Amino acid sequence: MTDKSQIHLLDDPTSLKSWLKNNGQPAFRAGQVQKWLMEGRAEDFEAMTNLPAALRNELAENFAIWTSTIAKHTVADDGTEKLLVALADGGRIECVLLRDGDRRTICISSQVGCAMGCVFCASGLDGVDRNLTTGEIIEQMLKLQRLLPADERLSHIVVMGMGEPLANVDNLMAALETASDSDGLGISPRRITISTVGLPTAMDKLTRSNPRYHLAVSLHAPNDRLRNQLVPVNNKIGIDKILAAADRYFDMSGRRLTFEYVLLGGINDSIEHARELAGKLKGRPALLNVIPYNPVVGLPYSTPSQGVIRAFREELEKANITIKFRKRKGDKINAACGQLRRSTPPAISIELPTSKSQPASD
Ligand code: SAH
Repeated sequence: MTDKSQIHLLDDPTSLKSWLKNNGQPAFRAGQVQKWLMEGRAEDFEAMTNLPAALRNELAENFAIWTSTIAKHTVADDGTEKLLVALADGGRIECVLLRDGDRRTICISSQVGCAMGCVFCASGLDGVDRNLTTGEIIEQMLKLQRLLPADERLSHIVVMGMGEPLANVDNLMAALETASDSDGLGISPRRITISTVGLPTAMDKLTRSNPRYHLAVSLHAPNDRLRNQLVPVNNKIGIDKILAAADRYFDMSGRRLTFEYVLLGGINDSIEHARELAGKLKGRPALLNVIPYNPVVGLPYSTPSQGVIRAFREELEKANITIKFRKRKGDKINAACGQLRRSTPPAISIELPTSKSQPASD
């Protein structure tokens, strides 16, 4: 594990370049190390066989590659794999690999816990502990990539795991640079989606600095009265300000926006809600992604019946809203945000020495 004097390589990629320079090593070694890491084939410096042995030893003394370990690894029948990752300070986060045709999508976390307080979400039930570092975000990507066979690459990233990505926008942006860089994971920014509860100031920052990614906004209600109840942070913001910030992002990025809407039985799933939602979204170049609620143990919400879901959908289609229903994947392994962490007490989580973990038996 990490020695405090070591530099977390993934957290500060420039540190290797300056270390090599200060130690009289050729600059191209940085590229070699990066290739080993990004292709996900080297577990440690020792495995980087095109580097001189003495240099490998020195790098191992000065740099840590991994700061986190896999506490639990679950595999669902549909190929979805979920990792519960234990951080160096004991915090725990989740990330998921989803297989769909040729797509290899990963869902990653941005914070330990979440401060937004959405009443139906498992991630925020205990509040937020801290932001993830850039290195911790990249580690999730690499750990998931290592689950793939050698001839497969990650194709898509969704930042829809634990946490509010735009509450940790600087560390996240640095991590996504590595994800999209041709010397990094080489994933096109248009295949990277940031899902936000809707924080207009941070959305505007993204609009100004880096509108390359796909933006998804979690709406969940068509009016402030209901949204204030479901998404408490809305009390300080309001839907109209969020929609205006989303429009500004679209004006800069040219990328169609996505709005997410978790359907909660008897709460936000009526025909009237659908009509009001259509009114809010009309005229916007947007896709509405409807997500039937994924039950969280201990929470008093339910998934609407198929009939209710169909009627909701038809009402929006009548209003010419482009609508997509999210397929449920990995239900049996608690693949929805924050659920695995809650169902796995820290005391019984098994710590595996490397990221080459074995599927858990349950
Ligand atoms: N903080 C970000 C990322 C959250 S996770 C955001 O709010 O967008 C991504 C999506 O999953 C969000 O739309 C979130 O509201 C939704 N979600 C959370 N808990 C869920 C549950 N139990 N069932 C279905 N969707 C859920």
